[in-house]
Amino acid sequence: VIRLFRVRGIPVRVDYGWLLIFGLISWSLASGYFPRVTPDLSPAAYWGRALAAAVLLFVSVLLHELSHALVALRHDIAVSGITLHVFGGVSELENDPTTPRAEFLIAIVGPLTSFAIAGVCWALGRALASGPAWAFAVTGYLALVNVLVGAFNLVPGFPLDGGRILRSVLWAWRGRVAWATRWASRAGSAFAGLLVALGMIRALGGDLVSGLWLVMVGMFLHQAAQSSEALARVRARLEPLRVEEIMTPVRDLDGARAGTAPVGADQVVGPRDSAWLAFLKVSRHAGGHVAVVDGGRLVGMLRRRDFEHVASPDSTRRAAAARRAA
Ligand SMILES: [Zn+2]
Repeated sequence: VIRLFRVRGIPVRVDYGWLLIFGLISWSLASGYFPRVTPDLSPAAYWGRALAAAVLLFVSVLLHELSHALVALRHDIAVSGITLHVFGGVSELENDPTTPRAEFLIAIVGPLTSFAIAGVCWALGRALASGPAWAFAVTGYLALVNVLVGAFNLVPGFPLDGGRILRSVLWAWRGRVAWATRWASRAGSAFAGLLVALGMIRALGGDLVSGLWLVMVGMFLHQAAQSSEALARVRARLEPLRVEEIMTPVRDLDGARAGTAPVGADQVVGPRDSAWLAFLKVSRHAGGHVAVVDGGRLVGMLRRRDFEHVASPDSTRRAAAARRAA
């Protein structure tokens, strides 16, 4: 991961895989799109245009993610960063939205931003129609890809924006976030399966590169949908419990462990805190445990396996991985 810069305090990072995609996009623009729409130019001219268009595409995806992050901040949800990766980008919110309304607004602003960028590019292209051909070609390309980005993200399967919108609607309807997440995740898995099937058909039909690409996107989405479903299941089990109900009391710990209590607020919970809050802290912490402290006294420890007595080890593992990734 490469750290680029900060926007309103939010670090923007780029996954190494993104560099590969950036190269592929530039190459396909320089060898395919630009020679077709503006013929008879030098390769250097095509590459210059292609790189400019690819950078602007990068800016478009960044603006999409930034819109999620800024609306999240307005709802008092801290954002630990924005990462652009092979399959697009992700805004890392430190907590889930607490109301369906907040969830809905944070999700929908992304596709709306993409459509707005598309609209601006389209209008610019019209205004520049009598000007240089390259300007028309670049704005036309950006208008198209931003429409595609917005539309793809509106697919109602978690964890895509459309899936989050679906979750917020189900959540508002029944008032149960875990149930809503489960169904939105299932819709996400179903869509992911569809992408894999379509990709295989394409690949077998001879279009190997874009076919395999669809298969990979489908597998990525499937993985993400499964993780969020596991997270929802664990949350539903843990939210009604208190830390003292599942912790290992200090008398059951061996002396060495009890003596080396971790310090720092992010590694300490109270016995009457929700077990879900404790799970979030344990997942975030590399050591995989937090101290339970009551009135300045160590009363117990919570380790990942303490949660496994409550939720299944498999969903606990998946959910912990999902929290670390998020
Ligand atoms: Zn989005």
